[in-house]
Order: sequence, then C-alpha cells, then structure tokens
Amino acid sequence: MLVYKFGGTSVGSAERMKHVQQLVSQDGERKIVVLSAVSGTTNALVEIIQHFANGNDQTLHLVRALKEKYGLLVTELYATDEGVRNGNSVVERHFDELEKLLSQPYYSKMEKVILAQGELISTQLFTALLKERGINAQLLPALDFMYIDENGEPDLRQIEERISRLLNGFADVDIIVTQGYICRNNTGGIDNLRRGGSDYTATLIGAATKAEEVQIWTDIDGVHNNDPRIVENTRPIAQLSFEEAGELAYFGAKVLHPNCIFPAQQRNVPVRLKNTMNPEADGTLITGEKNPQAVKAIAVKDGITAIKIKSTRMVLAYGFLRKVFEVFEKYKTPVDMITTSEIAVSLSIDNPDHLEEIIRDISPYGYIEVDREQSIVCIVGDFVAERKGVGKDIFRALDQIPIRMISYGGSKNNISILIDTQFKKEALITLNKELFNL
Ligand code: ASP
Ligand code: MG
Repeated sequence: MLVYKFGGTSVGSAERMKHVQQLVSQDGERKIVVLSAVSGTTNALVEIIQHFANGNDQTLHLVRALKEKYGLLVTELYATDEGVRNGNSVVERHFDELEKLLSQPYYSKMEKVILAQGELISTQLFTALLKERGINAQLLPALDFMYIDENGEPDLRQIEERISRLLNGFADVDIIVTQGYICRNNTGGIDNLRRGGSDYTATLIGAATKAEEVQIWTDIDGVHNNDPRIVENTRPIAQLSFEEAGELAYFGAKVLHPNCIFPAQQRNVPVRLKNTMNPEADGTLITGEKNPQAVKAIAVKDGITAIKIKSTRMVLAYGFLRKVFEVFEKYKTPVDMITTSEIAVSLSIDNPDHLEEIIRDISPYGYIEVDREQSIVCIVGDFVAERKGVGKDIFRALDQIPIRMISYGGSKNNISILIDTQFKKEALITLNKELFNL
C-alpha cells in the first residue's frame, strides 16, 4: 500500500484537483489518499470561529462568502450535470450544518466540529470526481479510525486496530480517500491533530498500515538545504535520515508538520516529499538510512525567548537546575535550548504565554535577564557534531553576528545557535555560502 497526502494548495482549485486525480490514478497502484481542506478554508473557518465567539454579526457573511467559493469550484470540477448536482449537495449539507451550529449559543467544543468541515468537504468532492472519471474509489472516514488519547497525542495502537479492520471492507477498492487533520478524542468527540496536521495523518496511516511508502505532495521540490523564503540559492536535499528530518521539521522547515516523522520512524516507513507542480522531480526521501556526510540543511525557528538565570548560589550547588526546570514543568512550557556556565544557565522557550509567571517563580533563584525576538538557527546533518571543521566553518560564517547561545553535541544531528531575529537573514545567507558554497 502507498499513502499519498495532498495539502491545501494541491487541491486549491478545480484545475489542481483534476491534476491530483491524474497523479493518483496514473500508475495503477493501490493507495490511500489523504487530503487537506481546500486552501484558505481552515483559515476562513478559524476566522469564522473568532467572529462567532466574539458575538460579531459578520459571521454569517463570512460563511456565505466561503460557500460561494465552493459553488464555483463545483461547477468547474465536474463534467456532468449529475456530478455538479452531487457536488452541490455535499456543499449544501456541510454549510447547513455550519449555519445550524452558528445559530446556537457559542460553546468551545463546537470549534473542532466547525474546523472539521474543510476536510470533510474536500474529500467528498474529490472522491466524487474520481468516481465520475470511472476510477474505483471510496471514501474512508478518518473519524472512524483516527483517534487521539487523553493527552491529545495519536493513539497508534488504536488507529492500527481500527484501520486494519476497516480496510478489510475496502479490499477491492483502488483509491481510498480520507481526511487529513481531523480525528476523534478519547471521549469520542470530533477533534484535530492541530494546524498542518494532515502530514501527521499521512504518516500515522503509513505506520498503521505498514505502508511501502508515504508520499507528501506539496508545492516545493522537497526539503531544501536552507529556507527558500529567505535565501535565494537553495536546493532540494535528495536524502535525509528520520533523525535529521525530525530536527528540521521541528526547527522550522515549514514543509513538514513537526511531529509527523515520528510514527514513520517508529515503524520504519519511508517518507518521500514530492512537488505537485513538478511531479518528475525526485523530491526528498526520508528513511532510516544514515549516511555520514557534510552538513545537509539549515533551518530557522523564530519567536524564541531566551531566559538567563544568574546565581552565585549555583556554584557547587546541586538541585539548582531541578528547581528551575520544575517551574517550566509547572507551566507546561517546553524548553528548547539550554546552556550553562558555573554561575548561570540560559534557556530558550518558544511559547511565552506563561513568561510572567515563570519569571516570578524563578526569580528567588537568581538574577534574571530576558531577551525576546530571538531565532534558533539549526544546522542539521548526520553526525555533524563529530565532524572536524564544521564548527570552524559555522563560526567563520557568523563572525559578524552576535551569538546569544550555542548548543553543540546535544544530538548527533544538530548544532543550534541562538541569535537576535534581526540578524537572521544575514546569518542564513552567510551560512549558505560557507557551508554549501551557494
Ligand atoms: N487544513 C488543516 C490546516 O490548514 C490541516 C492541514 O492542511 O494540514 O491546518
Ligand atoms: Mg502543511
């Protein structure tokens, strides 16, 4: 079995959906196709929820405007009158449900139900298109098998059990279509895998079905060696290990959902990134194979806050770090980078929601300094920390840039450097020259 995932832009118009229809059916291989909502839809639904929660009467206008976009899509998508009629009835049904929800008083659980409508619509429209074109396709509802546990994390065992049972009923179906992103929680309510979660759906299905390969189709030729939105000369990377891809996805390479590598790695299922606009390009293949090679990629994560705690009581003291980290645990705030000296510890967080309380609670332990608007520049490769000379190349590239923190040796795949975000562009460009000759 193959698993293909297409993001919002890949199904963003009638023309694009027809193109995807060709991509999934041309090789005659059986596959599960995971789709996101049509591009812009989830953002529009988020906006609708915000307006609704604030009691704004613009809400229904926004709903109708979104519905109109689908009306156009449906007329362009199908060749037959019957196809258009069916498509319209899918759109009607889901927008009726939306309006019904929005006619009730607001309650927080309705948010997830509203957000689910995008994927519910795109998958039905796409399955109908495949059928109209004579392809043996069926819809497998994600809400029948994609489950998260009480911590909001995917419950792989349950997913495995449910999907294998359900797939028995799809033995003679060529193309099985399902929704990305949406799932059920441990109380059975509609939930989701958080924004960008369709990638995660795809690798979870790949792991649960022990697929031959998961292909994530986006609009770029795979993972690039540097951020193509900031640096001009970047190039796609042919091969990455799961570890490298995991670090890159977490540290800002926007092509992949940060958690989506983990299930594939757990079940050793290769993940390939492909470009819908350029299907011939090889893209990036992510596998368990490690090939010690020079630095492979640079990624950057913004919105980082650095906190320094300086204390003379730290000298020869034990238990100091525990007390400090307990504060972060108390506020459920993950720490990304840590560096220590004999009298100070610096660490970085990407979620400043509880910053005030955290500072208040750690202030008894020392003098505190906070730097906001920092960026982590993450340099990734196989065994990069063991290679001679990499450090020298990095520091030569950054010799004009003030470095706030360095983390080296924490993993074999990553060297992280914290800088003020104002120096980010310059850092990425000079690193690109120094490490990749680009
Ligand atoms: N539609 C969802 C989002 O926009 C999930 C996804 O596209 O991956 O976040
Ligand atoms: Mg995405």
